[in-house]
Amino acid sequence: MAPAAPAGDAASTWLVEVALPVPLPQNFTYRWDPDGDGEPPVAGDLVAVPFGRRRRVIGLTVGARAAAGDVREVDGNPLRKVTAVLGPAYRLGADRLALAEWLAEYHALPLGEVVPLFHPPAPGTRRRASRGELAVFPLDEAASVVLTPPQAEAAAMAADHLERREFGVLLLHGVTGSGKTEVYLNAVARALELGRSALFLLPEIALTPQTEARIRARFGDLVGVLHSGLSAGERCRVHEAAASGEVRVVLGPRSALFAPLTDLGLVVVDEEHETSYKQEEKPRYHARNAALIRARAAGAFVILGSATPDLASYRSARLGRFRLVRLPGRPVGEMPLVEIVDMRRERAPEGFSERLLELVEQGLEAGRQSILYYNRRGFARVLQCASCGESPSCPSCDIALTLHLRPRRLLCHYCGHSRPAPAECPECGGEDFLPAGGGTEKVELALAAQFPGARVLRLDHDATRRRGSHADILSRFAAGEADVLVGTQMVAKGHHFPNVDLVGVLAADDGLTLPDFRAQERAFQLLMQVAGRTGRTTPGRVVFQTWQPDHPVIRAAAAHDYESFAESELVVRDLLGYPPARRLLRLAVVGRRLGDVEAAASRLAAALREAFADGGPELLGPAPAVFPRLQDRYRWQILLKGNLSAAQKAWLAACARTVHEGERSLDVVLDVDPTGLY
Ligand code: ADP
Ligand code: ZN
Repeated sequence: MAPAAPAGDAASTWLVEVALPVPLPQNFTYRWDPDGDGEPPVAGDLVAVPFGRRRRVIGLTVGARAAAGDVREVDGNPLRKVTAVLGPAYRLGADRLALAEWLAEYHALPLGEVVPLFHPPAPGTRRRASRGELAVFPLDEAASVVLTPPQAEAAAMAADHLERREFGVLLLHGVTGSGKTEVYLNAVARALELGRSALFLLPEIALTPQTEARIRARFGDLVGVLHSGLSAGERCRVHEAAASGEVRVVLGPRSALFAPLTDLGLVVVDEEHETSYKQEEKPRYHARNAALIRARAAGAFVILGSATPDLASYRSARLGRFRLVRLPGRPVGEMPLVEIVDMRRERAPEGFSERLLELVEQGLEAGRQSILYYNRRGFARVLQCASCGESPSCPSCDIALTLHLRPRRLLCHYCGHSRPAPAECPECGGEDFLPAGGGTEKVELALAAQFPGARVLRLDHDATRRRGSHADILSRFAAGEADVLVGTQMVAKGHHFPNVDLVGVLAADDGLTLPDFRAQERAFQLLMQVAGRTGRTTPGRVVFQTWQPDHPVIRAAAAHDYESFAESELVVRDLLGYPPARRLLRLAVVGRRLGDVEAAASRLAAALREAFADGGPELLGPAPAVFPRLQDRYRWQILLKGNLSAAQKAWLAACARTVHEGERSLDVVLDVDPTGLY
């Protein structure tokens, strides 16, 4: 890994060791011939090289040395030439190199497979430029605020670490509106004053136009934004500007973590509990965890912010690995009052309780806005035959099809399969083929029927298919063009609407019973997040409609009581040995033939049980995944609980490869620290 020594003979060939983004464990050797005044690549340089017959790939130089004479082949294979050295803007400095090595080792991948994370898409994969996802929001920013004591404590901690160039992690725990962003901005400003740079990670940039606007307003041209809507050219421009120091604050989703900022001083991970920080394809890294690795290597400070910290972060804070600052309440506005409505006592034919209707009506009369949250899009969860019970499911996924009205179709929410909704049962010909369970389309229609004069907007995956429509709906609602916003999780994220003083959660117990050990945590996070959409200027009201009014998750969320939820949930995780008490690794066997998948999963599990017979991780399974078939592929999984060494993970990866090599139609997914068991 040491930089190459200068060659004695300036004209000699160089041998360059390159890690390539291919699923093969070894590095590859190429030659580099001096011509003109180019410098030979050094460790950390990205290089473009030919691979196979006509591929050109970008790899990472792990070493280079001058060869004696004109070397044309190695081990009988002809040496191919490095096509291009990408230049200093693309060189991995010490912190990014440390990150790359950690990513590869921790996820049991060849080093080359993490390289694509570190550069913008290669030329030739250009997508058309598209901004315009950004809504224009008024900034209600005071020019400079006086920090509250806990804010000041957090800011001082950041400043102190920045000055001493010392790694450290702060968990900043505060509800929406408690002043977290003010702390981030203060810390970024301090980093810039000290000549250092800052990374600002957000779950999804399109969902948080207000945060982007505030950062731009504060730091102007020093800010570079990276997101998936940018063209390759635009991404390259931000990338190069970050490397040159022209851009010193990079803002973006998880992929922004790899931006080549120099002298990184601060990493902010806002909404650190969000699952979108985890990449659900190879390399399956979690940006929050990876951020800690880069920050440690760079001597940078990390601020993790959330109203509902991930239980792993909370536990780290309790164990003293992270510092913790709580921002109690809101400097401006108050916390909303949450009412729990027991739906078992309601007739609620259209899904609205008396109390919710009353509050919506009051809002309409007062000219205030409301948000209604229902976490399922479409008109009805299923279409079901009243005679034989049949309800159509997706031909490629074992998932029920959802009924949509405009246009009237049955839709698979996983793979997008769509077909006309039949009028009668395809099984028995029964004519009572009825919608069951609700959806946002139904809520929207029912609301219009209840309040004919109300202006209703809907925000969900269907309403936002057109590019720009997501931001468009948000800015129309912010501008007061509608009285009620009905939507899925999309209404829960990011933005604040000062004129909203009612949030109705139509089915607060939704999600509590999902077969995943994190179901309670996710449900709690969502309830807290939705409730946080109100009460910015007036004490807002929140209604949780529920069939389990005494459920501890619902009680804790209604009381804004993260701690009591977290403490009791940690006890459960300890008892069951699930994260964060113990680590988890998931091996999923995936393939088109059920018999093959099941057999391979059983053989794999047997081999692992034997290997770990004398201790090591605890094995669960094999068993079908929560969704046992998606897109025509059956899925069985094995879970391993406990700490695994890098060597053990590498061995698991080798086992996974063996399964695939034995039967090419099978794949084994190795997921370290999975965030979902689907
Ligand atoms: P969060 O990021 O936790 O949602 P913000 O930082 O956006 O919270 O703060 C919410 C609102 O309160 C913003 O309008 C912000 O300007 C204001 N605010 C934050 N801190 C203070 C303070 N110390 N004094 C006055 N206003 C503040
Ligand atoms: Zn499907």
